[in-house]
Amino acid sequence: MASIFSKIVSGEIPCYKVAETNDFLAFLDINPNAKGHTLCIPKKEVDKLFDLDEHTFNELMKFSRTVALAIEKAVPCKRVGMTVVGLEVPHAHVHLIPLNAMEDAQFIKKETLSPEDFEATARTIASCL
Ligand code: AMP
Repeated sequence: MASIFSKIVSGEIPCYKVAETNDFLAFLDINPNAKGHTLCIPKKEVDKLFDLDEHTFNELMKFSRTVALAIEKAVPCKRVGMTVVGLEVPHAHVHLIPLNAMEDAQFIKKETLSPEDFEATARTIASCL
């Protein structure tokens, strides 16, 4: 069965898109640790990040760096953190999280955003690419 992220890639379910190339997609995490929390994925569905072939892994890191630099410009924060978990969605992805405090990296405290907030945040990050 296709992962929820493959359904986002195919357009079956919506997302707040931040960036896209032929092979990669970045969109806002729907349950963010902080405003601007973004997920970067390869469009090709592979469960574990470190099972990606070396080329795809390196290109995902490059894509994630580009997106992280845009987040840093768009969202006030001390820095952007990168985390890999993958316990919930079996489709390789990188979390990019604007950090102001250690707890922003801890997946415990969550931020509530309106659809308008999500849309505006995605648009602002995209404009900084
Ligand atoms: P993990 O697999 O543990 O790295 O966590 C998966 C992440 O994907 C969580 O932070 C979820 O909030 C996020 N997530 C799950 N479904 C969606 C979705 N439809 N759109 C955006 N983010 C999602």
